[in-house]
Amino acid sequence: MVQRFRKGLRMSKILVIEDNRANQRLFEDMLSHAGHDIVVVEDALAGLELARSENFDLIIMDIQLPGMDGIEATRALRSDPTTQDIAILAISAHAMRGDEERILAAGCDAYLSKPVRYRQLLDKTTELLDK
Ligand code: MN
Repeated sequence: MVQRFRKGLRMSKILVIEDNRANQRLFEDMLSHAGHDIVVVEDALAGLELARSENFDLIIMDIQLPGMDGIEATRALRSDPTTQDIAILAISAHAMRGDEERILAAGCDAYLSKPVRYRQLLDKTTELLDK
């Protein structure tokens, strides 16, 4: 009989694109604790390069990044056949309705506003990985 992993407990490979050190650590701690394999980069260009060369199940995308922002990076991922199907969870300090619509319109699958709580991050991550 085949034993299936319980939902959310399967190890997935997650790329975190976040420039803030405290948030990098927070996401890394939270997602590693949930059993995932995490790679952290601090800008969009490094993230795009890595996303094209390695297979990620999910990208946690900070929207406010130096240089290319998370919206532009999401558009770039969605327009590239090698990265267009990777799930993207956007994280933004902005909580206004217009921002959320803009973020989702760019191609992000879901959105969380900072400060991010462990349960929220875990629920969204599980939801996107189970799709
Ligand atoms: Mn940022």
